[in-house]
Amino acid sequence: MPESVAKSVQQHEAYLGLGANLANPVAQLQNAIAALRLLKQSTLLAVSGLYGSKPMGPQDQPDYVNAVAKVSTTLSPLALLDALQQIEQQQGRQRKAERWGPRSLDLDILLYGNHTISNERLTVPHYGLTKREFVLYPLAEIAPKLVLPCGTPLQTLLSQVPLNGLEKLSATVCE
Ligand code: ATP
Ligand code: MG
Ligand code: MG
Repeated sequence: MPESVAKSVQQHEAYLGLGANLANPVAQLQNAIAALRLLKQSTLLAVSGLYGSKPMGPQDQPDYVNAVAKVSTTLSPLALLDALQQIEQQQGRQRKAERWGPRSLDLDILLYGNHTISNERLTVPHYGLTKREFVLYPLAEIAPKLVLPCGTPLQTLLSQVPLNGLEKLSATVCE
């Protein structure tokens, strides 16, 4: 098999961060998980519980609901980003100039295998991964032994990042 073909069918495990604070955030995340189950060239492997979290940046916005999902995919990182942004659009995401403003759905690529990616559209590992409680705790629920590409164990980061009001919700993605 030519190398280019072999590369295109390689499976990568990617972790995705989900967040929403508008238009029924729990339903937004449930719908997003349903969309991820149908993601082309991909298999949904695990989903964390849903977590309530405090907003970053502007505080005059509703609390967030967050989760982390794990997929196995043969999509390239940029093709995966395209697919995630398409799901954001389908669920009414409106991009505004304000950073960290309210949104119906945010889907970020946290990790793509052990890859380190830096280009104008994509930074992986996600730059906020090591500092955000609403990413680290859901991630630890589905990957407690994870070690980041830089060699830092996830558990080390957890011990450094306080909960900051993060709480696990009783709602689940299966409802
Ligand atoms: P933050 O990046 O701080 O979580 P955000 O998720 O609200 O903020 P967006 O408006 O969703 O930011 O995305 C802005 C741009 O970030 C996107 O157009 C995308 O090209 C870029 N981006 C860079 N790295 C990533 C990544 N790992 N996952 C998703 N988008 C990324
Ligand atoms: Mg984000
Ligand atoms: Mg985003």
